[in-house]
Amino acid sequence: MFIVASLLLLSADLVRVAPFRADATPDMGEPLIWTTPVTKVLDPLYAKGIILESKGKRYVMCSMDWCGVSGATHRMLTEALAKGANTKPEYVELHTLHQHSAPYIDGDAYALMRKLLPKPPLLMSDAYLAKLAGNLTKAAQTATYHDIDQVGLGEAKVEKVASARRLKVDGKLVIRFSTSGKDPKMAALPEEPIDPMLRTLTFASKGKPVARMHYYATHPQTFCCDGRVSGDMINAAREGFEKEDGGTLQVNFDGAGGNVTVGKYNDGSDAAREALAQRLQQGIRDAVKATKWTSPGDIEWRAENVKLPPRPDLADHKAILANPAKRTDIEIYRAAISVVFAERKRPLTLTTLRIGDIRILHMPGEALLEYQAFARSLKPNVLVAAYGDLQSGYLCPDIAYQEGGYEPSASNAGPGTEAILKAAIRKLLR
Ligand SMILES: [Zn+2]
Repeated sequence: MFIVASLLLLSADLVRVAPFRADATPDMGEPLIWTTPVTKVLDPLYAKGIILESKGKRYVMCSMDWCGVSGATHRMLTEALAKGANTKPEYVELHTLHQHSAPYIDGDAYALMRKLLPKPPLLMSDAYLAKLAGNLTKAAQTATYHDIDQVGLGEAKVEKVASARRLKVDGKLVIRFSTSGKDPKMAALPEEPIDPMLRTLTFASKGKPVARMHYYATHPQTFCCDGRVSGDMINAAREGFEKEDGGTLQVNFDGAGGNVTVGKYNDGSDAAREALAQRLQQGIRDAVKATKWTSPGDIEWRAENVKLPPRPDLADHKAILANPAKRTDIEIYRAAISVVFAERKRPLTLTTLRIGDIRILHMPGEALLEYQAFARSLKPNVLVAAYGDLQSGYLCPDIAYQEGGYEPSASNAGPGTEAILKAAIRKLLR
């Protein structure tokens, strides 16, 4: 009797991790952001992640090389992962890395456009989405579990990759986009405010790494919207390091980098892209080298639901859908996303996974850097993954709505967002 009880105790405390990788490359003709059809695949896109098992529960953290996934499509792919991992969808975090040479799909907006418009813009086929869901389920189902005896956290400064998009120059707001580096005046403006640190969480078994998860906040795209599929410079860095690291699965999560791009250092050339990839890979290498190890400790999952206010000019977006004749496909699709976000019944969810004294904060939307700084001011060792369900678009602090500029104008959420998100983050990190 005593032996049975001890064995049960032992298995209850065991932490296991199963790394997985699924293909997420869209087929020819399927849409990239927003509605541009795929004409060429430069390099494949993946969904990579881990299943973490503790005390009979399984949690999935997955990052996909897409620009965005939201609404019903986010839910469908989350359920596909849950099915494969044999867990509840509530324990699955599906995020995107936000490359702009990749799809941006919102199933709720699709349903609205199909209902309202005789001829909707190019929509991703149900057949491809079903294939992708099948890939995710299979990857999670066939993943191999490893007993974890050590968890490592390392961080390092990444040199000359991230740079601020919202800058104040002589008291005026200046927006520096992802390819603004072409203009020497834009390239000369300061790098900050950014969070230059890349943070890496490693799970290890008997002295060998099983999976590494990297957290770094920036828009990773160097080019956009020309029909070419690519995981861009961030995948080059990630896959390059994976080879260097003996094939250990590397997963990158985009932090709260809604107002951060690579614009200072990117003139759109192949040479700039390669240099950015190499500097990011160096950052990954340095963070891994700086790893400090502990035993896995206690595992705890928390969730907070939020309902965010819609953008104040929603009527203009409804008008686009009511009278689409003179509108572009991009305007129509984006208007549809803002309308379904305003009418959304299902809450957005923020979650944390705590592993000992390390916390991963998972956020929906394109959260601006201020939220990452806020979370990290509350507790040490907080890793931030934004870009979960992306239906809200940018998640701005209220001051950004007063200042104006790109991010608040492109957000589907409105003023008042900040207090709601900060309250949820505070609860999760308490
Ligand atoms: Zn963005």
